[in-house]
Amino acid sequence: MSNVPDNAPQHCPGTQSEDAGKASACAGCPNQNICSSGAASEPDPAIELIKNRLSNVKYKILILSGKGGVGKSTVTSLLGHGLATRNPDINVGVLDADICGPSQPRVLGVRGEQVHYSGSGWSPVYVKDNLSLMSIGFLLGSPDDAVIWRGPKKNGMIKQFLSEVDWGDLDYLLIDTPPGTSDEHLSAVQYLSAAKLTGAVVVTTPQEVALLDVRKELQFCEKLGVKVIGVVENMSLFVCPNCNSRSEIFPATTGGAQHMCAEMGARLLGSLPLDPLLARCCDSGRDYLEQLPHSPASTALRDIVDKIVAVCESGSS
Ligand code: ADP
Repeated sequence: MSNVPDNAPQHCPGTQSEDAGKASACAGCPNQNICSSGAASEPDPAIELIKNRLSNVKYKILILSGKGGVGKSTVTSLLGHGLATRNPDINVGVLDADICGPSQPRVLGVRGEQVHYSGSGWSPVYVKDNLSLMSIGFLLGSPDDAVIWRGPKKNGMIKQFLSEVDWGDLDYLLIDTPPGTSDEHLSAVQYLSAAKLTGAVVVTTPQEVALLDVRKELQFCEKLGVKVIGVVENMSLFVCPNCNSRSEIFPATTGGAQHMCAEMGARLLGSLPLDPLLARCCDSGRDYLEQLPHSPASTALRDIVDKIVAVCESGSS
């Protein structure tokens, strides 16, 4: 992954006018020449490449969150395991597009694995027979290496991930994105537009500070025409493993995700309780669903997976 393109013509302020690349705001921009040449208004050839590459992927799902730390990567890995376990005859892929904070190699228990490049592209790492993963984490010298890249380079990386990973036939591709609505999200949506993005699953916690950002995430989806498959409320309750008493660690002062979903017309897929054993499994890369199949979180997760499958298969909005 050495030849990451460093251009992002869509950011040039003069792109839409005859002044493209020549306006005063363009002075000093590294894309000035590309814009003034008119190349910026041409459709990106990568979009067609990505469409072909992902033509054997049935459902492509973005996993979004308004804030970091709400459990987006945890939920992505659980959904990956959940979908793969629900039906061993389907194939599931996880693309870790959280370029600056790739955590899937750790939570899926494949840290330190190597990815290989062949004539057909990058081979993902197999977590189990029907669950594969591609992450920038595999390309870093050490897991502690920081990725300090500006937007265009991150976009280039996403473009390469989407166009060059040889997933084979996949039923579900889950794309773990960084928190918020940044460059990476715009790129992913833009590149996946021709490849028919199925929709987005939005992860939140119950408190208003998290829900505030989720509303923005839902608006982002609406503006870009991305279907919202539904919202997952994570860390909604703590069920004591000793006495089974239930406590709200993060109180839903404004009614939690249920109220927010009703207000915004979004589907609440379900609520996952806070479970310290889940955090432990993620830290050590173990499959929580396999380890604790009867826990409240596993039961809730399986129900969420069923709902996602139902939405995808029915093609409903
Ligand atoms: P994000 O991807 O949104 O930044 P993570 O998935 O990395 O968040 O989760 C942040 C931390 O919270 C991790 O240590 C993870 O193990 C833990 N965590 C997430 N969801 C739960 C849960 N339901 N119960 C217990 N710990 C959780």
